[in-house]
Amino acid sequence: MRCAVDHGEGLAVRTNMTVTHCQLCYCVLYTSTLSAVLLCAVHISSNTDGQYEWDRTTKGATTKSFFPSIVDRMKLTINPIPNFTAIVTGHGNIKTYLHKFNIIENPKCSCDKGEQTVDHIIYSCNLHEQERDRLKAVITRSEQWPVSKNKLVLKYYKNFKQFTDNIVLNKE
Ligand SMILES: [Zn+2]
Repeated sequence: MRCAVDHGEGLAVRTNMTVTHCQLCYCVLYTSTLSAVLLCAVHISSNTDGQYEWDRTTKGATTKSFFPSIVDRMKLTINPIPNFTAIVTGHGNIKTYLHKFNIIENPKCSCDKGEQTVDHIIYSCNLHEQERDRLKAVITRSEQWPVSKNKLVLKYYKNFKQFTDNIVLNKE
């Protein structure tokens, strides 16, 4: 059981492994057997030291920008779907991720306005403008857009999840 991205594994489709997630930081794990408790290398040693490990590690930077504190993370009851998972972890069906593992040749987004990163999807890709406008409409009732990714998950979880549910990623 390892954190695939941090340790340079390929995608699960290239192996015979099952894709799952660390129950604490939600990073993607590739495991050959399913065990009851699924934690990534960062969290596998102990739960109590989790916060320390979390702060210390430089890995999982994208997930950290959403969940700087495990406590905040654990407060949420997340019922994830693939887009949400991909966007929050930065792992999955996102071109910069696929490119990093040589699954695709070009990390450029189909909108042609730059690489498809998590930030690009949330804040700038014009392919998701309609869905983003809906999210913005809710947020701008109380504050200015853009808000941080951390805030999107903690304060606007429902609306942000709706955004990720509604966008279509790389269907071409
Ligand atoms: Zn784009």
